[in-house]
Amino acid sequence: MEKIQMVDLTGQYNKIRSEIDAAISNVITSAAFINGPEVKAFGKNLETYLNVSHAITCGNGTDALQIALMSLNLKEGDEIITTPFTFIATAEAIALLGLKPVFADISPCCFNIDPAEIEKQITKKTKAILPVHLFGQCANMDAITDIADRHNLYVIEDAAQAMGSEYTFSDGLVKKACAMGHIGCTSFYPSKNLGCFGDGGAMLTSIPELAEKMQSIAQHGSAVKYYHERIGVNSRLDALQAAILNVKLKYLDRYNQSRVKAAGYYDKELEGIEQLTVPKRMKQSTHIFHAYTLKTTAQDRDPLCKFLKKRGIPTMIYYPVPLHLQKGYSKYGYKKGDFPVSEALTGSVLSLPMHTELSNEQLQYICNAVREYFKKA
Ligand SMILES: *Cc1c(COP(=O)(O)O)cnc(C)c1O
Repeated sequence: MEKIQMVDLTGQYNKIRSEIDAAISNVITSAAFINGPEVKAFGKNLETYLNVSHAITCGNGTDALQIALMSLNLKEGDEIITTPFTFIATAEAIALLGLKPVFADISPCCFNIDPAEIEKQITKKTKAILPVHLFGQCANMDAITDIADRHNLYVIEDAAQAMGSEYTFSDGLVKKACAMGHIGCTSFYPSKNLGCFGDGGAMLTSIPELAEKMQSIAQHGSAVKYYHERIGVNSRLDALQAAILNVKLKYLDRYNQSRVKAAGYYDKELEGIEQLTVPKRMKQSTHIFHAYTLKTTAQDRDPLCKFLKKRGIPTMIYYPVPLHLQKGYSKYGYKKGDFPVSEALTGSVLSLPMHTELSNEQLQYICNAVREYFKKA
Protein backbone atom coordinates (compact mmCIF):
# COMPACT_ATOMS: atom_id res chain seq x y z
CA MET A 1 0.00 0.00 0.00
CA GLU A 2 1.21 3.51 -0.83
CA LYS A 3 2.11 5.72 2.09
CA ILE A 4 -1.01 7.56 3.27
CA GLN A 5 -0.83 11.33 2.97
CA MET A 6 -3.15 14.04 4.22
CA VAL A 7 -3.14 15.46 0.68
CA ASP A 8 -1.53 13.76 -2.34
CA LEU A 9 -0.65 16.36 -4.95
CA THR A 10 2.04 14.28 -6.65
CA GLY A 11 -0.32 11.40 -7.41
CA GLN A 12 -2.81 13.81 -8.91
CA TYR A 13 -0.15 15.56 -11.01
CA ASN A 14 1.21 12.28 -12.38
CA LYS A 15 -2.14 11.48 -13.99
CA ILE A 16 -2.23 14.70 -16.05
CA ARG A 17 1.49 15.30 -16.20
CA SER A 18 1.92 15.69 -19.96
CA GLU A 19 -0.96 18.16 -20.21
CA ILE A 20 0.35 20.26 -17.33
CA ASP A 21 3.94 20.18 -18.51
CA ALA A 22 2.90 21.32 -21.98
CA ALA A 23 0.86 24.19 -20.51
CA ILE A 24 3.80 25.33 -18.36
CA SER A 25 6.21 25.03 -21.25
CA ASN A 26 3.94 27.16 -23.48
CA VAL A 27 3.98 29.99 -20.98
CA ILE A 28 7.74 29.86 -20.66
CA THR A 29 8.20 29.84 -24.44
CA SER A 30 5.79 32.75 -24.89
CA ALA A 31 7.38 34.66 -21.97
CA ALA A 32 3.93 36.13 -21.23
CA PHE A 33 4.41 35.79 -17.48
CA ILE A 34 2.21 38.64 -16.28
CA ASN A 35 -1.44 39.11 -17.29
CA GLY A 36 -0.97 37.15 -20.50
CA PRO A 37 -3.52 35.14 -22.49
CA GLU A 38 -3.55 32.24 -19.98
CA VAL A 39 -4.64 34.60 -17.20
CA LYS A 40 -7.38 36.09 -19.37
CA ALA A 41 -8.53 32.64 -20.47
CA PHE A 42 -8.68 31.39 -16.90
CA GLY A 43 -10.82 34.38 -15.87
CA LYS A 44 -13.24 33.54 -18.69
CA ASN A 45 -13.23 29.83 -17.81
CA LEU A 46 -14.01 30.64 -14.19
CA GLU A 47 -16.89 32.90 -15.21
CA THR A 48 -18.34 30.11 -17.31
CA TYR A 49 -17.82 27.42 -14.68
CA LEU A 50 -19.35 29.50 -11.88
CA ASN A 51 -21.94 31.26 -14.02
CA VAL A 52 -20.85 34.70 -12.83
CA SER A 53 -20.28 37.62 -15.20
CA HIS A 54 -16.98 38.91 -13.79
CA ALA A 55 -13.93 37.04 -12.50
CA ILE A 56 -10.91 39.02 -11.32
CA THR A 57 -7.92 36.86 -10.57
CA CYS A 58 -5.38 37.83 -7.93
CA GLY A 59 -2.37 36.62 -5.96
CA ASN A 60 -4.04 34.46 -3.30
CA GLY A 61 -7.26 33.91 -1.37
CA THR A 62 -6.32 36.28 1.43
CA ASP A 63 -5.79 39.09 -1.07
CA ALA A 64 -9.12 38.22 -2.67
CA LEU A 65 -10.89 38.86 0.65
CA GLN A 66 -8.94 42.06 1.23
CA ILE A 67 -9.57 43.45 -2.26
CA ALA A 68 -13.27 42.52 -2.03
CA LEU A 69 -13.58 44.42 1.25
CA MET A 70 -11.59 47.37 -0.15
CA SER A 71 -14.11 47.73 -2.97
CA LEU A 72 -17.06 48.40 -0.65
CA ASN A 73 -16.35 52.02 0.45
CA LEU A 74 -16.19 51.07 4.11
CA LYS A 75 -14.67 53.21 6.83
CA GLU A 76 -12.57 52.44 9.85
CA GLY A 77 -14.57 50.76 12.60
CA ASP A 78 -17.26 49.40 10.30
CA GLU A 79 -18.22 45.90 11.35
CA ILE A 80 -18.07 42.70 9.34
CA ILE A 81 -19.79 39.65 10.78
CA THR A 82 -17.99 36.36 10.27
CA THR A 83 -17.36 32.97 11.83
CA PRO A 84 -14.73 32.29 14.51
CA PHE A 85 -14.36 28.72 13.22
CA THR A 86 -12.26 29.18 10.08
CA PHE A 87 -8.75 29.83 8.81
CA ILE A 88 -7.26 33.09 10.08
CA ALA A 89 -7.27 34.76 6.63
CA THR A 90 -11.00 35.43 6.91
CA ALA A 91 -10.64 37.71 9.94
CA GLU A 92 -7.18 38.95 8.98
CA ALA A 93 -8.41 40.66 5.82
CA ILE A 94 -11.04 42.48 7.87
CA ALA A 95 -8.65 43.50 10.64
CA LEU A 96 -5.91 44.69 8.28
CA LEU A 97 -8.25 47.27 6.77
CA GLY A 98 -9.13 48.76 10.16
CA LEU A 99 -12.56 47.17 10.02
CA LYS A 100 -13.85 45.20 12.99
CA PRO A 101 -14.29 41.44 12.77
CA VAL A 102 -17.47 40.64 14.70
CA PHE A 103 -17.87 36.95 15.28
CA ALA A 104 -21.07 34.94 15.31
CA ASP A 105 -21.01 31.34 16.50
CA ILE A 106 -21.53 28.38 14.18
CA SER A 107 -24.32 25.82 14.04
CA PRO A 108 -23.40 22.65 15.94
CA CYS A 109 -24.42 20.46 13.01
CA CYS A 110 -22.13 21.49 10.18
CA PHE A 111 -19.38 23.92 11.11
CA ASN A 112 -20.86 26.96 9.31
CA ILE A 113 -22.02 30.30 10.71
CA ASP A 114 -25.43 30.19 12.40
CA PRO A 115 -27.85 32.73 10.88
CA ALA A 116 -29.64 33.21 14.21
CA GLU A 117 -26.30 34.21 15.77
CA ILE A 118 -25.58 36.65 12.90
CA GLU A 119 -28.85 38.41 13.60
CA LYS A 120 -27.83 38.93 17.26
CA GLN A 121 -24.57 40.64 16.27
CA ILE A 122 -26.00 43.26 13.93
CA THR A 123 -25.48 46.89 14.96
CA LYS A 124 -25.65 50.27 13.20
CA LYS A 125 -22.03 49.77 12.16
CA THR A 126 -22.55 46.38 10.50
CA LYS A 127 -21.80 46.62 6.80
CA ALA A 128 -21.31 43.07 5.59
CA ILE A 129 -21.66 39.40 6.38
CA LEU A 130 -18.71 37.19 5.47
CA PRO A 131 -19.78 33.55 5.57
CA VAL A 132 -17.23 30.79 4.99
CA HIS A 133 -18.31 27.61 3.22
CA LEU A 134 -16.20 25.49 5.52
CA PHE A 135 -14.78 22.11 4.53
CA GLY A 136 -16.63 22.23 1.19
CA GLN A 137 -20.25 22.68 2.24
CA CYS A 138 -22.11 25.96 1.75
CA ALA A 139 -23.35 28.04 4.65
CA ASN A 140 -27.11 28.62 4.96
CA MET A 141 -27.32 31.14 2.12
CA ASP A 142 -31.13 31.38 2.13
CA ALA A 143 -31.07 32.76 5.66
CA ILE A 144 -27.90 34.82 5.16
CA THR A 145 -29.24 36.46 1.99
CA ASP A 146 -32.50 37.20 3.76
CA ILE A 147 -30.73 38.85 6.73
CA ALA A 148 -28.51 40.86 4.39
CA ASP A 149 -31.52 42.07 2.38
CA ARG A 150 -33.44 43.12 5.47
CA HIS A 151 -30.49 45.02 6.95
CA ASN A 152 -29.02 46.30 3.68
CA LEU A 153 -25.70 44.50 4.11
CA TYR A 154 -23.20 43.15 1.65
CA VAL A 155 -22.52 39.42 1.51
CA ILE A 156 -18.93 38.43 0.75
CA GLU A 157 -18.45 34.67 0.44
CA ASP A 158 -15.22 33.01 1.51
CA ALA A 159 -15.36 30.03 -0.84
CA ALA A 160 -11.70 29.08 -0.52
CA GLN A 161 -12.70 25.55 0.55
CA ALA A 162 -15.76 25.17 -1.63
CA MET A 163 -14.80 25.47 -5.28
CA GLY A 164 -17.49 23.56 -7.15
CA SER A 165 -19.95 23.23 -4.28
CA GLU A 166 -23.58 23.99 -5.17
CA TYR A 167 -26.40 25.45 -3.14
CA THR A 168 -30.10 25.04 -3.90
CA PHE A 169 -32.15 28.03 -2.70
CA SER A 170 -35.65 27.52 -1.31
CA ASP A 171 -37.11 28.72 -4.62
CA GLY A 172 -35.22 25.97 -6.46
CA LEU A 173 -32.50 28.21 -7.89
CA VAL A 174 -29.11 26.48 -7.89
CA LYS A 175 -25.92 28.52 -7.60
CA LYS A 176 -22.30 27.64 -7.10
CA ALA A 177 -20.23 28.82 -4.15
CA CYS A 178 -18.71 32.21 -5.16
CA ALA A 179 -21.85 33.09 -7.15
CA MET A 180 -24.25 33.77 -4.29
CA GLY A 181 -22.99 36.87 -2.53
CA HIS A 182 -22.27 40.35 -3.90
CA ILE A 183 -18.70 39.07 -4.15
CA GLY A 184 -17.31 35.54 -3.92
CA CYS A 185 -13.67 35.04 -2.97
CA THR A 186 -11.63 31.94 -3.49
CA SER A 187 -8.11 30.53 -3.26
CA PHE A 188 -6.08 28.26 -5.51
CA TYR A 189 -3.58 27.29 -2.82
CA PRO A 190 -2.21 23.86 -3.83
CA SER A 191 -4.28 21.79 -1.38
CA LYS A 192 -7.63 23.46 -2.15
CA ASN A 193 -10.15 21.58 -4.29
CA LEU A 194 -8.95 23.58 -7.30
CA GLY A 195 -5.29 24.14 -6.51
CA CYS A 196 -2.40 25.48 -8.54
CA PHE A 197 1.33 24.91 -7.97
CA GLY A 198 1.84 27.94 -5.78
CA ASP A 199 -0.43 30.81 -4.75
CA GLY A 200 -3.48 32.10 -6.55
CA GLY A 201 -6.91 33.55 -5.88
CA ALA A 202 -9.94 35.21 -7.42
CA MET A 203 -12.90 37.49 -6.75
CA LEU A 204 -16.19 36.83 -8.53
CA THR A 205 -19.09 39.22 -8.93
CA SER A 206 -22.01 39.91 -11.21
CA ILE A 207 -22.07 43.61 -10.26
CA PRO A 208 -20.12 45.50 -12.97
CA GLU A 209 -19.16 48.47 -10.76
CA LEU A 210 -17.65 46.19 -8.12
CA ALA A 211 -15.83 44.21 -10.80
CA GLU A 212 -14.29 47.34 -12.24
CA LYS A 213 -13.26 48.57 -8.83
CA MET A 214 -11.69 45.28 -7.76
CA GLN A 215 -9.84 45.03 -11.05
CA SER A 216 -8.41 48.49 -10.45
CA ILE A 217 -7.53 47.84 -6.79
CA ALA A 218 -5.71 44.62 -7.69
CA GLN A 219 -3.46 46.53 -10.09
CA HIS A 220 -2.22 49.49 -8.07
CA GLY A 221 -5.55 51.33 -8.20
CA SER A 222 -5.19 51.80 -11.90
CA ALA A 223 -7.18 51.12 -15.07
CA VAL A 224 -4.78 52.96 -17.38
CA LYS A 225 -1.10 52.34 -16.77
CA TYR A 226 0.60 55.06 -14.68
CA TYR A 227 -2.72 56.76 -13.87
CA HIS A 228 -3.98 55.84 -10.40
CA GLU A 229 -7.55 56.67 -9.43
CA ARG A 230 -7.30 55.10 -5.98
CA ILE A 231 -4.82 53.47 -3.62
CA GLY A 232 -4.54 49.84 -4.58
CA VAL A 233 -2.31 46.82 -4.14
CA ASN A 234 -0.27 44.58 -6.40
CA SER A 235 -1.98 41.22 -6.50
CA ARG A 236 -1.82 39.12 -9.65
CA LEU A 237 -2.37 35.53 -10.62
CA ASP A 238 0.86 34.31 -12.15
CA ALA A 239 0.54 33.20 -15.80
CA LEU A 240 2.19 29.84 -15.01
CA GLN A 241 -0.41 29.23 -12.32
CA ALA A 242 -3.21 30.30 -14.67
CA ALA A 243 -1.99 27.81 -17.29
CA ILE A 244 -2.02 25.03 -14.68
CA LEU A 245 -5.48 26.07 -13.51
CA ASN A 246 -6.82 26.06 -17.07
CA VAL A 247 -5.91 22.39 -17.24
CA LYS A 248 -7.08 21.50 -13.74
CA LEU A 249 -10.43 23.30 -13.94
CA LYS A 250 -11.50 20.73 -16.55
CA TYR A 251 -10.96 18.00 -13.96
CA LEU A 252 -12.47 19.80 -10.97
CA ASP A 253 -15.85 18.07 -11.02
CA ARG A 254 -14.16 14.69 -11.31
CA TYR A 255 -11.79 15.61 -8.47
CA ASN A 256 -14.70 16.63 -6.30
CA GLN A 257 -16.48 13.35 -7.12
CA SER A 258 -13.42 11.40 -5.94
CA ARG A 259 -13.54 13.30 -2.67
CA VAL A 260 -17.26 12.60 -2.26
CA LYS A 261 -16.61 8.93 -2.95
CA ALA A 262 -13.87 8.74 -0.33
CA ALA A 263 -16.14 10.54 2.14
CA GLY A 264 -18.88 8.01 1.44
CA TYR A 265 -16.45 5.20 2.21
CA TYR A 266 -15.51 6.80 5.53
CA ASP A 267 -19.17 7.41 6.39
CA LYS A 268 -20.19 3.83 5.74
CA GLU A 269 -17.34 2.37 7.79
CA LEU A 270 -17.41 4.83 10.70
CA GLU A 271 -21.09 5.67 11.13
CA GLY A 272 -21.74 2.98 13.72
CA ILE A 273 -19.08 4.13 16.20
CA GLU A 274 -20.79 5.66 19.19
CA GLN A 275 -18.04 8.15 20.11
CA LEU A 276 -17.82 9.54 16.55
CA THR A 277 -20.05 11.79 14.47
CA VAL A 278 -19.46 11.71 10.73
CA PRO A 279 -19.88 15.01 8.81
CA LYS A 280 -23.51 15.94 8.30
CA ARG A 281 -24.72 16.74 4.81
CA MET A 282 -27.19 19.58 4.50
CA LYS A 283 -29.90 19.02 1.94
CA GLN A 284 -29.51 22.54 0.48
CA SER A 285 -25.81 22.20 -0.33
CA THR A 286 -23.59 19.66 -1.97
CA HIS A 287 -20.51 18.80 0.09
CA ILE A 288 -17.27 18.55 -1.86
CA PHE A 289 -15.13 17.56 1.11
CA HIS A 290 -12.21 19.91 1.11
CA ALA A 291 -11.80 18.22 4.49
CA TYR A 292 -13.43 15.16 6.03
CA THR A 293 -13.93 16.26 9.61
CA LEU A 294 -15.16 14.01 12.39
CA LYS A 295 -16.42 15.03 15.78
CA THR A 296 -15.39 12.85 18.66
CA THR A 297 -15.19 13.36 22.42
CA ALA A 298 -12.69 15.76 23.99
CA GLN A 299 -11.07 12.77 25.82
CA ASP A 300 -10.70 10.67 22.70
CA ARG A 301 -9.53 13.26 20.19
CA ASP A 302 -5.80 13.53 20.92
CA PRO A 303 -5.27 9.85 21.84
CA LEU A 304 -7.03 8.84 18.61
CA CYS A 305 -4.75 11.13 16.55
CA LYS A 306 -1.71 9.64 18.27
CA PHE A 307 -2.98 6.09 17.74
CA LEU A 308 -3.47 6.75 14.01
CA LYS A 309 -0.10 8.46 13.66
CA LYS A 310 1.62 5.36 15.05
CA ARG A 311 -0.01 3.39 12.25
CA GLY A 312 1.20 5.81 9.57
CA ILE A 313 -2.08 7.70 9.25
CA PRO A 314 -1.82 11.50 9.35
CA THR A 315 -4.66 13.60 10.76
CA MET A 316 -5.14 17.36 11.12
CA ILE A 317 -7.03 19.56 13.55
CA TYR A 318 -9.04 22.18 11.65
CA TYR A 319 -8.98 24.34 13.78
CA PRO A 320 -7.27 24.09 17.19
CA VAL A 321 -8.04 27.67 18.34
CA PRO A 322 -11.15 29.67 17.40
CA LEU A 323 -10.31 33.09 15.94
CA HIS A 324 -11.81 35.12 18.79
CA LEU A 325 -9.26 33.52 21.17
CA GLN A 326 -6.21 34.03 18.94
CA LYS A 327 -3.59 36.08 20.75
CA GLY A 328 -3.11 38.49 17.86
CA TYR A 329 -6.78 39.36 17.97
CA SER A 330 -7.08 40.09 21.69
CA LYS A 331 -7.70 43.79 21.07
CA TYR A 332 -11.24 43.00 19.99
CA GLY A 333 -12.00 42.02 23.58
CA TYR A 334 -13.42 38.56 23.12
CA LYS A 335 -13.05 35.97 25.87
CA LYS A 336 -13.44 32.28 26.49
CA GLY A 337 -17.09 31.33 26.61
CA ASP A 338 -18.22 33.87 23.99
CA PHE A 339 -18.74 31.21 21.29
CA PRO A 340 -19.30 27.88 23.03
CA VAL A 341 -20.07 25.83 19.93
CA SER A 342 -16.85 26.82 18.17
CA GLU A 343 -14.83 26.46 21.37
CA ALA A 344 -16.11 22.93 22.04
CA LEU A 345 -15.41 21.84 18.48
CA THR A 346 -11.80 23.03 18.51
CA GLY A 347 -11.25 20.44 21.24
CA SER A 348 -13.13 17.57 19.64
CA VAL A 349 -12.70 17.64 15.84
CA LEU A 350 -10.21 15.80 13.72
CA SER A 351 -9.86 15.55 9.97
CA LEU A 352 -8.88 12.34 8.20
CA PRO A 353 -6.77 12.19 5.01
CA MET A 354 -8.80 13.60 2.11
CA HIS A 355 -7.68 14.01 -1.48
CA THR A 356 -8.41 12.75 -4.97
CA GLU A 357 -6.05 9.78 -4.95
CA LEU A 358 -7.15 7.72 -1.93
CA SER A 359 -7.42 4.01 -2.78
CA ASN A 360 -10.01 1.71 -1.25
CA GLU A 361 -7.14 -0.17 0.34
CA GLN A 362 -5.94 3.00 2.07
CA LEU A 363 -9.47 3.99 3.11
CA GLN A 364 -10.10 0.54 4.54
CA TYR A 365 -6.80 0.63 6.43
CA ILE A 366 -7.66 4.03 7.94
CA CYS A 367 -11.18 2.94 8.93
CA ASN A 368 -9.90 -0.30 10.46
CA ALA A 369 -7.43 1.66 12.56
CA VAL A 370 -10.13 4.06 13.78
CA ARG A 371 -12.37 1.14 14.70
CA GLU A 372 -9.54 -0.61 16.46
CA TYR A 373 -8.95 2.49 18.61
CA PHE A 374 -12.56 2.60 19.77
CA LYS A 375 -12.63 -1.12 20.47
CA LYS A 376 -9.78 -0.55 22.90
CA ALA A 377 -11.09 2.70 24.34
C1 LIG B 1 -7.05 28.88 2.33
C2 LIG B 1 -8.07 29.79 2.87
C3 LIG B 1 -7.98 31.18 2.72
C4 LIG B 1 -6.77 31.88 2.20
O1 LIG B 1 -6.31 31.51 0.97
P1 LIG B 1 -4.76 31.76 0.59
O2 LIG B 1 -4.76 31.53 -0.87
O3 LIG B 1 -3.95 30.79 1.35
O4 LIG B 1 -4.44 33.17 0.93
C5 LIG B 1 -9.03 31.96 3.18
N1 LIG B 1 -10.10 31.41 3.78
C6 LIG B 1 -10.21 30.09 3.97
C7 LIG B 1 -11.43 29.55 4.63
C8 LIG B 1 -9.19 29.23 3.54
O5 LIG B 1 -9.32 27.91 3.74
